Amino acid sequence: MTVSIRASLMLSALAMAALTAAFVDPPAADEAPIHPKHWAYGGEGGPAHWGELAPENGPCASGAQQSPIDLAGAMSASIVAPQPHWQPAHGGMVINNSHTIQVDVSNGGSLSLDGQDYALKQFHFHHPSEHTIDGKHFPLEVHFVHASGNGDLAVVGVLFAEGASNPDLDAIWATAPGREGKAAVAFDIDLAKFLPAKHDAFRYEGSLTTPPCSETVHWTVMASPQTASASQIAAFSALFPQNARPVQPLNRRYVLKTSG
Ligand SMILES: [Zn+2]
Repeated sequence: MTVSIRASLMLSALAMAALTAAFVDPPAADEAPIHPKHWAYGGEGGPAHWGELAPENGPCASGAQQSPIDLAGAMSASIVAPQPHWQPAHGGMVINNSHTIQVDVSNGGSLSLDGQDYALKQFHFHHPSEHTIDGKHFPLEVHFVHASGNGDLAVVGVLFAEGASNPDLDAIWATAPGREGKAAVAFDIDLAKFLPAKHDAFRYEGSLTTPPCSETVHWTVMASPQTASASQIAAFSALFPQNARPVQPLNRRYVLKTSG
């Protein structure tokens, strides 16, 4: 079968990519952590306590436009679907920051949203999904984080159901450090492969889903899921068994669904 031949060729290319990925510069033990007080997905540093961990985390506890949310009940609207102009990213870093696997890209393209351009900065993963539909989680969600010149963020979420494997995920997983650290990306990442063919999407105004939970995010969550294989999902969940913030109240917001 063509598919399996291609898959095995892909796997040997991936093995090469993994062998040539240079491990660089794990953080020194005395390096200041990303956040002064440790936040986590459970226990004393868990989501219920994020607001108390640092003064700037106020919105985590008292914000009214927090993310993620359940996307059920979205209203169909004849609004323009988001238009990602992503391009294959060459180079960059795969980072295990102890909260997720994040891929920093340069020249990964941009997103056009309501007449504003946002440059793609990084993407990262959550297991299970942070956004839910009718209360249902998906096994994986990817967030593509874009920033405009004025500091606004536009994040595109793509949900993953279990199914066919995604070749880009293998390359990223193979490169990702198993503990906190970074590794150089030694392969091209075809970002377009992460985008569903159908561009229907949910849109709403929300926040970062990690401290400090800033309410500066224009959210787009693609309505059609992509797929990742059971072993790809298992490989991520072995590193991060649960890195999803619970869904937040919608409050006085609307979720819109683009109609094509
Ligand atoms: Zn995220």
